[in-house]
Amino acid sequence: MKLNILDKVLKIYQKYYICPYCLGRMFALLGTDTTNFKRAYSLLLSLTLENHRILLTNKNKENNALLNLRILAENAKFSPARKVLEKEGHEYTQIDSTKTCYLCNNIFLNLQKYVNKAINNTENYEYNTFLCGTSPNSKIINQEDRFKAEFNLLESESFKTHFNREIGKLLSSIINKPPEFENPDILIIYSLDFDEFEVQLLVRSLFIYGRYNKLIRGIPQTRWPCRKCKGKGCDKCNFTGTQYDTSVEQLINPLFIEKSKATGSKFHGAGREDIDVRMLGNGRPFILELKEPKTRNLDLNYIMVELNNTQDGKVQISNLKFSNKKEVIALKAKAENTKKVYLALIEAEEAIEIKEFETKLNLLKKTIENNKIYQRTPNRVSHRRADLIREKYVYKIEGEYITSNLFQFTIETQGGTYIKELISGDDGRTKPSFSEEFGSKLICKELDVIDIKD
Ligand SMILES: [Zn+2]
Ligand SMILES: [Zn+2]
Repeated sequence: MKLNILDKVLKIYQKYYICPYCLGRMFALLGTDTTNFKRAYSLLLSLTLENHRILLTNKNKENNALLNLRILAENAKFSPARKVLEKEGHEYTQIDSTKTCYLCNNIFLNLQKYVNKAINNTENYEYNTFLCGTSPNSKIINQEDRFKAEFNLLESESFKTHFNREIGKLLSSIINKPPEFENPDILIIYSLDFDEFEVQLLVRSLFIYGRYNKLIRGIPQTRWPCRKCKGKGCDKCNFTGTQYDTSVEQLINPLFIEKSKATGSKFHGAGREDIDVRMLGNGRPFILELKEPKTRNLDLNYIMVELNNTQDGKVQISNLKFSNKKEVIALKAKAENTKKVYLALIEAEEAIEIKEFETKLNLLKKTIENNKIYQRTPNRVSHRRADLIREKYVYKIEGEYITSNLFQFTIETQGGTYIKELISGDDGRTKPSFSEEFGSKLICKELDVIDIKD
């Protein structure tokens, strides 16, 4: 026999006590624009009204109605049913107040406790948006699944969805911040069991975009682990674990970590220059990732000025703004295709007269300008990069004669071009090259990036 909803509710309460939240959840897909609690109240109230009517008007079914009202009053702890029985002069057993909800063990009746814990744990964090997540113990899930099967409840929603929504609503109303589903600043995760729970926080990283200038040679972009000890610390590296005393990353990050009270950081550069290459002009874009920050609303201008004032001319930063993870991916992808302009001081093995220089420069421009070059992974990086041939585009070359064996070149190329190898030829690994076109060996003595166009 197929039971209607009201019959199912009575059947449930003949056997179990479940709280109104859980009752409503069993029929959550029926009706809209209401809550599970109101859904349950309506069902229980309908049952009370109908049985009250029968009690008053139908002598034949009076006993059955009385039985139903007692189920509602005693087993469902529904007070309107109790009042009806009292009013009509019928007795009922006092409710057992220690009896807890079969499905949630009264979790839904004590939501405040769960919210309080989250408020406590997030107290020291600055955040604008949050989201609640739940990982219920399998006992909770299995019990609920068996229950649904027993009463053939096909229109329910999951415990998880319901709990997340209720907690989110309550928390939002107290802290006055909206839940956000896409990219919340803080994800509050509840591990639930019937009688205990834990709250874990996942704090989203804070991303800050900027551009940096490296004004001196000899510092790598990021922390470079010691070659001998791989970062553990040894006598070779003076137990610092690093190959170089400092890096752009180490000069920039600590102040941001301090201001945001982050637990760590990561430096994402839009490409990188060699250690002995300066980064001048408008600077190289970077995004700083600050992990688990406690403070998010940073005064970026203030930090920029403070940092630039304490660098002794090593590194300067500019153009700071808040960023996000998506932009980190875009930054990396874009770096390969942005145009970069270099200034190179070049030494020739053999002396050249100025006239000859002009002729060879013209030849070089003809072959290489607005053309592709082919670069096999240079010898000097082949131990850490895959050996393959990259096609790169050279847009523009300008040359200036300084002495018979010293020239200055301005070279505009596609990002990721190995400039030193473009000049030397790297024993034939880069083709064509400046050395090849000049017919004598050229070596890059000093290199600066003077513009990154994006
Ligand atoms: Zn419940
Ligand atoms: Zn070492």
